[in-house]
Amino acid sequence: MESITINPSVEINELSRHFGAGGCQGFSHSLSTKVESYSKRLDELLIPRLHYQIEKIDNIGKESVSINRDTTFRSRKLTRALKESDEIVCFVATVGSTIEDEIDWLMAQRRLSEAYVLDTMGSVAVENMVEQFHQCEEPLFLAENRSVTLRFSPGYCDWPVTDQKKLFGLFDSEVTGVELLDSCLMQPRKSISGVFGLYHSLNSHSSVPYNPCRHCKKMDCIARRA
Ligand code: SF4
Repeated sequence: MESITINPSVEINELSRHFGAGGCQGFSHSLSTKVESYSKRLDELLIPRLHYQIEKIDNIGKESVSINRDTTFRSRKLTRALKESDEIVCFVATVGSTIEDEIDWLMAQRRLSEAYVLDTMGSVAVENMVEQFHQCEEPLFLAENRSVTLRFSPGYCDWPVTDQKKLFGLFDSEVTGVELLDSCLMQPRKSISGVFGLYHSLNSHSSVPYNPCRHCKKMDCIARRA
């Protein structure tokens, strides 16, 4: 298992998308003030950690992919995305529990709008960290003429959230700092787990990785890729 430190940034455009505003110009004065105030405290509130490991893919069937001898992920879309991959990168990322303690404290004080703003900033931060990780892996492998697929997480598309248990079976929660609850939710909540494939781009039949979102009717999906 490898560990990497990536400092997340909270992009205004992403925040705006979550708040349903049209860019930061769409923020009210009150919202801007809250975002500005918490932005100054992010170094103290975020404790980013990302752990990953690369596993060889044993078999890709029609609706399942097997790795690490006895781990099988069941998802038609994931399987199709990994069709040309020979290895899979599995990861668990978190921004820690300090931000959640602050959100819980704000809730207890009935400062609900501040709690909501900070909660959203935490979600944007952990998503940004994982996106940076995914994007910076590609140049590392390009030298070997390898490329990365889109990333997937249990619970999205047709990948059952219960497969979180299989994914977490590859990691030591004492080391990652992320615990999987019986409900398959993660603790700390501002955590993301997932996978993406590695494939030889020279052998690939397509220059663009498979993207199931192009044909998906779930227009309100928060994980939608353009
Ligand atoms: S929009 Fe994309 S990520 Fe969301 S369910 Fe559809 S295919 Fe999956």
